[in-house]
Order: sequence, then structure tokens, then C-alpha cells
Amino acid sequence: MIVKAAVVRDPVDGYVDIKDVTLRPIKNGEALVKMEYCGLCHTDLHVAAGDFGKVPGRIIGHEGVGRVIQVADDVDNLKIGDRVSIAWFFKGCGHCEYCTTGRETLCRNVQNAGFTVDGAMAEECIVDANYAVKVPEGLDPVEATSLTCAGVTMYKALKVGETRPGQWVEVVGAGGLGNLAIQFAHNVFGAHVVAVDGNEDKLAAAKANGADLLINRHDSDVAEQIQSKVGGVHNAQITAVNADAFTTSVNALRPDGRLVAVALPQGDMALNIAKTVLDGIQVAGSLVGTRQDLAETFSFGADHKVKPIVQTRRLDEVNDIIDEMKANKIVGRMVVDFTK
Ligand SMILES: [Zn+2]
Ligand SMILES: [Zn+2]
Repeated sequence: MIVKAAVVRDPVDGYVDIKDVTLRPIKNGEALVKMEYCGLCHTDLHVAAGDFGKVPGRIIGHEGVGRVIQVADDVDNLKIGDRVSIAWFFKGCGHCEYCTTGRETLCRNVQNAGFTVDGAMAEECIVDANYAVKVPEGLDPVEATSLTCAGVTMYKALKVGETRPGQWVEVVGAGGLGNLAIQFAHNVFGAHVVAVDGNEDKLAAAKANGADLLINRHDSDVAEQIQSKVGGVHNAQITAVNADAFTTSVNALRPDGRLVAVALPQGDMALNIAKTVLDGIQVAGSLVGTRQDLAETFSFGADHKVKPIVQTRRLDEVNDIIDEMKANKIVGRMVVDFTK
């Protein structure tokens, strides 16, 4: 069948072409999804720019939500009409040590929607039925697109931080990821939140979302303030694309604290050895989430515990959205509406 899709431009220049693409027929184990909504993410911009390797002609998109319109004969976990998601973690190999022990996002043979396989920024998308996580009917499908990516990423990262009720969590960077981190930490994990950002508007939004303590990133003594006001944090969630934020945040941890690295700035972080050893500091990276993490994320969205900021646009506006994102003009997520 022929569908309208946003594909990486050839030659690769950071933009997409909107054109008709012929999808192959589905194979065993697969389903076909008619897209309703798909969010545009900074990761899509990296794919369009060839930052992870050049994939001209690839359909972008990994924040897709739509309904199943066809299933292969051997598929028994999805049926026509089910609403499902298409996430960056498209599929693991299913049999390596990571896939079989609940750590499937670390599979070395992972497939990523909109990068290694055709993604969701299209009228229709082929999915692996075992990996297409269902979206509950009680959840707004536009909001679900953001939970598919930023939402599950922060929910998982707070799990990696072993966040417990009543603890203190530092969220560094109160943008798209950080905003959801604050909501999850406060509304789902029952934690207290210190929000750190350089933008006063984002700090005000952080307060509205439940942050207990706000600190401007440009203060010279961010870690000292956190130590003196709350005795240090149990874990720090670093969503700011800024290597210094990692180094500073180590000093904001209390003993046995965890630094969870989520953002991906270039370069290295400094880690004071004495602090690390004597305070039993742990540092962990966290990347998206498993199918189960995503199912749990959706359930909290359906319970209205987390609410992403979203706005709908048309497919033919994707290159305009790319420019707006590059110019840092967007608050929340732009989501392409395929329902009109
Ligand atoms: Zn994304
Ligand atoms: Zn695997």
C-alpha cells in the first residue's frame, strides 16, 4: 500500500521530504497500524542530520500512536482496532542476556523505529506484534505520543535512581524531559523535588508541577544550596545537555546517592574519587524503557498523574517544526495529527 510519510532527505541535510512511500506486505508476527498521532523528537532531528549514521529514505518517527488495521495470521496478542504505540525501542533480539532478563533496551541487536526500521511519521506503519505496547483507551492519544518517549524515559530513570516515597530527587534541566521527571517524581513516586534550571519560566512551570525547591542553575553554589537546605538528594536526574551539570550534581548527592545520566552532552563528566568512595556514590546511565516500563507509564498517564505538554500540527509542517526546534522556540512537544 502507498502511504504519505516523512522520510530522511537524500542527500542527508537535516530535513525530511514528505512523499508517497510503498510499504511492503506484513509478515508473520507483524501488524499494520493506521497512525493517529506521532510526535517529533530531537532524536528524529539527529536521524535526519545523519548524526547516528546516514539513512536516506528512512521513514522517521518513534512517538507514534495508532490503531491496528491488519494482523498476520499467527498474531494472537493484538486484534484489529487495538490502539498501540511505536517507540524508539522498536524490537530486541528476544534471546540475549539483556532481552531475557528485563533489560531489553540494552540488547546489542536492538532495532529503533525511525532509524534502523521505518518509523511512525507516516499514515501507516508496520510493527512487530510482540513489541507494540497497547495504549489504554482512557489515555489521550495525543499525550500518549510523548509518554512513548520522554515519559517512559523519565519513569525508567527514576526507577534506576531507586526513588522511594519521601526522598529528595534533584531534576537538572526543567525542559521536556525534566518537566515529566518532576511530575513522575512528585505524583507517582511520592518524592520531594529540587528543580534546577537557568530559565525562570521553566522554574515556574516546575513549581506548578510539584517541585518543592527551585534553584537557578547560574548560581555559583547549586550543590551547596542543596546540601544546606535538604541535606543532599537521594538521586539526581540529569536531563540538561550540559556536561558541567553532571559534575555539579555529584556534589548535591547525599551518601549512598545515585546520579542518573539521561541527557547526552558531548564529552566527559568529572567524578571526585574521594566523594565517590567515601560517600558510596553510584552513577548510572538510563536509556528509554522496556515494554513493561512503557505499559506502566501509560497507566499513570491514564490516571492523570502525568500530563505532557503537546500541540498538534500537520504532516506537511514537519520541516517547519524542525526549524522551530533548532531555534529552541517550542515549549512541549509538536505532534503530527494524521486523523484529519
Ligand atoms: Zn523521542
Ligand atoms: Zn537481545
